[in-house]
Amino acid sequence: HQLPADPDTHLAPRQVTGAAFSWVEPTPVAAPRTVAVAADVAAMLGIDPARPDFAEIFAGNATLPGMTGYAMAYGGHQFGQWAGQLGDGRAIGLGEILTAHDGRQEIQLKGAGRTPYSRGADGRAVLRSSIREFLCSEAMHHLGVPTTRALSVVATGDAVVRDVMYDGHPAPEPGAIVCRVAPTFLRFGNYQLPSARGDTGLLRQLVDFTIHTHFPVVAALPDGERHAAFFREVCARTARLMAEWMRVGFVHGVMNTDNMSILGLTIDYGPYGWVDDFDPDWTPNTTDRMHRRYRFGHQPRIGYWNLQALAQALSPLFDGAEALQAGLDHYVEVFEATDAAYGAAKLGLMHGREGDEALLGDLRGVLTAGGMDMTIFYRDLALLDVAAPHAGVVGAAFYSDAQRVAVADSLEAWLVRYAARVREDETGESERLALMHASNPRYVLRNYLAQQAIDKAEQGDNSGVLELLDTLRDPYDEQPGREHLAARRPEWARDRVGCSM
Ligand code: AMP
Ligand code: MG
Ligand code: MG
Repeated sequence: HQLPADPDTHLAPRQVTGAAFSWVEPTPVAAPRTVAVAADVAAMLGIDPARPDFAEIFAGNATLPGMTGYAMAYGGHQFGQWAGQLGDGRAIGLGEILTAHDGRQEIQLKGAGRTPYSRGADGRAVLRSSIREFLCSEAMHHLGVPTTRALSVVATGDAVVRDVMYDGHPAPEPGAIVCRVAPTFLRFGNYQLPSARGDTGLLRQLVDFTIHTHFPVVAALPDGERHAAFFREVCARTARLMAEWMRVGFVHGVMNTDNMSILGLTIDYGPYGWVDDFDPDWTPNTTDRMHRRYRFGHQPRIGYWNLQALAQALSPLFDGAEALQAGLDHYVEVFEATDAAYGAAKLGLMHGREGDEALLGDLRGVLTAGGMDMTIFYRDLALLDVAAPHAGVVGAAFYSDAQRVAVADSLEAWLVRYAARVREDETGESERLALMHASNPRYVLRNYLAQQAIDKAEQGDNSGVLELLDTLRDPYDEQPGREHLAARRPEWARDRVGCSM
């Protein structure tokens, strides 16, 4: 896209047609100060976090040789409705690094200022949402869930006004910028936008670019097979991602098609949440409380819905709907198989058996009825004496005595059934426990933990962020002295969730 000579026009919100992105540079900030850096991401990129200009670079005030800013054009369905052009309204790409071991990695500053896609908004982000994105992307990565990564959070020294009100007045908050990292940030919405505009040429160019750059196995196929194989692969990756979210108890909160990565990565951490007391109907997004479209248990279906929207967008490149439908069917197969395998692994069952599905389904019923903490229940289940099962081992998962009493019989009955199933299994005990420990994290980024770290950081104390970052690097290990970071949500934090903006 041509760079207009006049810098005001250059940032002016507008419809960008005939192009997949616009050149745009970050708007400088007042006083960059590094809050946190993920050392392993810095190492992956070959960037020294101790370099004196680190904060300046990753706040957008200085550039490294070769960096040129750009914002991508995309559209999307928001809460089921086509929203037209959205685009990177506050995220600015700086380029790609060809890393030594991790291939091509694109780096992007989120909150770096206005772009042609900012519409009426300011292009900025607040410290609290930036810390939430930074910590959660790293937590997800170390849990083994596909995700965009985060190099850093840098406080900008500028105030940003959001929706926090005191005495009816908007209160200024500290601003910040997250540096996000991924092989690509392309989303379903990038393909939807040119398709919706009837620009099949641009759509084809973007799809072929994506295949060539990011799907080498598909790129090696003969001409006529590539598009179908591409869609099928996107379906498979999305299916695996949904199974991963269900495994760890992550609720994205805004599964709009502009927030669906073409690589099947978790992308765009806004009003996400982690399930504490197990509830398939829980949604962390307060703007979604009415319809609960993006509730925990609904995510796999929304994954399908979003792939249908992508299929629709890609349809001008296909003769007929058959290959696209086959991709969608593949999504269902892969999700069901992966979800069943993960469900069994969480119970320490290596080889599925007739009846396991019912065992799992009944467990979900007990967990929901008892309002039991998902993470604590599964982790502590490994402590069960299968020769003499007793509900005491999972007692820490209860939030109230009333609930403990209410499900006492059904829990006991389920544990007896489960213990019998384990005793009949040919898997050895050490193998079973290893599988359970690798499938059931001890540490997840509970909403209240992130909030406590944010409260400190807003007072200039980054220690809470750094402690969580360090703990969440090894979520499957017991970490003596850090038990408080694996505890049930305290009562004051019930239903307190982070905000997206
Ligand atoms: P999201 O709900 O985070 O997926 O964002 C939806 C759209 O709003 C995207 O196009 C974002 O770039 C844009 N957006 C969100 N917040 C801002 C902001 N503060 N300034 C400019 N654009 C924004
Ligand atoms: Mg988004
Ligand atoms: Mg967002």
